[in-house]
Amino acid sequence: MDEKIIYRGVAASKGIGIGNVYIIKEQELVFENRSKDSAEEEKKRLERAISAFKEETLAMARDVKNRIGEKEAEIIEAHFMMAQDPELENVMIELIEEGNGAEAAVSNACDVFTEVIAKEEDDDTRQRISDITDVKSGILKKLLGIKEIDPNDLAKDTVLVAKELTPSFTAALKKDNVLAIITESGGMNSHAAILARALGIPAILSVPGITGLVKDGELVIADGNEGCVYVSPDEETVSKYKTAEEQSEKEKASHEEFRGKETLTKDGEKLEIFCNIGGAEDAVKAMEADGEGIGLFRTEYLYMESGKLPSEEEQFNAYKDVLDKVQNKPVIIRTLDMGGDKAIAYMNIKKEDNPFLGCRAVRYCLGNKDVFKSQLRAIMCASVHGDVKIMLPLVTCVEEIREAKKVLEEVKRGLKNENILFKDNVQIGCMAETASAAFTADILAKEVDFFSIGTNDLIQYVMSVDRGNSDVAYLYSAFHPAVLRAIKAIADAGRRAGIPVEMCGEAAAEVAMVPILISFGIRALSVNPANVLEVREAVSKWTKTEADAVTKKVLTLDNAADIEMLLKKAEKN
Ligand code: PEP
Ligand code: MG
Repeated sequence: MDEKIIYRGVAASKGIGIGNVYIIKEQELVFENRSKDSAEEEKKRLERAISAFKEETLAMARDVKNRIGEKEAEIIEAHFMMAQDPELENVMIELIEEGNGAEAAVSNACDVFTEVIAKEEDDDTRQRISDITDVKSGILKKLLGIKEIDPNDLAKDTVLVAKELTPSFTAALKKDNVLAIITESGGMNSHAAILARALGIPAILSVPGITGLVKDGELVIADGNEGCVYVSPDEETVSKYKTAEEQSEKEKASHEEFRGKETLTKDGEKLEIFCNIGGAEDAVKAMEADGEGIGLFRTEYLYMESGKLPSEEEQFNAYKDVLDKVQNKPVIIRTLDMGGDKAIAYMNIKKEDNPFLGCRAVRYCLGNKDVFKSQLRAIMCASVHGDVKIMLPLVTCVEEIREAKKVLEEVKRGLKNENILFKDNVQIGCMAETASAAFTADILAKEVDFFSIGTNDLIQYVMSVDRGNSDVAYLYSAFHPAVLRAIKAIADAGRRAGIPVEMCGEAAAEVAMVPILISFGIRALSVNPANVLEVREAVSKWTKTEADAVTKKVLTLDNAADIEMLLKKAEKN
């Protein structure tokens, strides 16, 4: 195998694309700063350009909503909102009145906004900067009459290579002709990455200098599973990848055999595969995917979407909507997990140096009891419409659970006084996702009805590695002995206390982890809808004795790479 020309980046969207390179060349947006026409004329040009941009953006948001999903459409809708932000437009008009041309006004106004927010150095800010850049170039292209490449015009076997892909361009791509995406920038959580995953297009991002390392029309293999790019691969490599692709198609077909079946280990022990959702639309997807319930309803989207605190009634409707969609299957509603990487502008949280270690999740809720009570009231009112459980995020000490339970009791008393119906026996559990929760799981277990292991955060807090920072992503692994020990400690404490332990982080969908989870006694896994059948099939291949034997070996190893290799070798086909 010729392994000479391999470039590596972030494996941002799984899958393999074998095709011919098409490099998206950045079009230079050239314009004069000063206007030759009158300010009135320039303002009219600006107005026409903004309105054409908005029209196009709205049409695209509608298309994305139909083709991909509501959450993804919101990324594009945000561009529409930016383009109609009166503050931004006022700055543009002022600049025109000072004698600038419409193009310079757009460019400078967007740069001013970028400069203001660039002072914050988190992922969310970087994302907003890339959104403003997208809006800026969109309006400028309208002013300059520059047409974007139409993704429909791309050849059937295209592997797109670019410095950066804007969310709007990515959203317009179709899986039919774009086999993969390779870029020089962007991380796992960039909007382009989210959209690529939603579209099912393999993506390798942050490959240094890739636009200068490949040529138009050159054959490449873009491996979105491993995050590597093979340039002009030899026949042996191509054939190896083609075989792997066929294998993966076969695997998808074999997962289908597990539709409508119970989740059982090879020796008949029952597990459950639930789904992670962000709202009612996802709940429909979860049911279509044969999920056995909802193991994690991330309620923060409700707060992020509305631009203001959702009223109790709005929340009730959202929860009831999900309960109706899942028809009596269990739904674990996680109370608001905001802060960290999920900032909600109208909540006016103080700027923090370390937001992941700051006023996030249950900490915020206990410090803002009105917000918390309103959510708990809405959940309790919805409780009569299905099988609801409440889950607290980011718990680090037992007092947080006790205080949250007190607030819940207060909410119940209030509802009783108002003669509003609710279920009195709604279970309350907590996410086990901090180092503290892992070390004190035995203490916490006495206060809750269940644990759900949130590996996304557990890895971050156990390994001291920002979950969104691609520079330290090499340390972010569920296979690290520290993370496995933390998971084991939580599972052991849950078993001793007689409470169920679920896992809802991304590691729950990692097929190689299945024997470990079976062996540790975790009996419910909550995954993205797309992974339900795959994980159910993986569970069916192991007996408890086999899983215990592999786990015993794993626990003797001292590093993540060796553990991952052992587990991947042990995977059963
Ligand atoms: C987790 O931390 O594993 C989790 C499931 O929650 P989130 O990704 O929303 O923090
Ligand atoms: Mg979490």
